[in-house]
Amino acid sequence: MPRRKPQPRTRRTRSTGASAGDSLFGGATARHEQGPPGSTDDTYLVRNVPGARATKSYRCPGCDHEIRPGVAHVVTWPAGFGGVDDRRHWHSGCWSGRRTRGITRKWS
Ligand SMILES: [Zn+2]
Repeated sequence: MPRRKPQPRTRRTRSTGASAGDSLFGGATARHEQGPPGSTDDTYLVRNVPGARATKSYRCPGCDHEIRPGVAHVVTWPAGFGGVDDRRHWHSGCWSGRRTRGITRKWS
């Protein structure tokens, strides 16, 4: 039987000139990432929130500090269920370091 050729990975051209990685909130699809340590869900959806879209202040669960309006950050929620109520706003740096730093006050 015929053997399938491995598909060459097609490189997506940036047609619009907009940066594909940090695309705007709304147009962007959320990406899947591993959840923070101790979380019940393995997979979280993560979306970048550009500063222009950050109109409220949030509490970052990573460092327990405030994310001020106008500060670009990420919003995450468990992928397993439709939890809009479970969305959490994180500093981008806190989210990316979540697995090495641990949640605030876990270490004492
Ligand atoms: Zn933080």
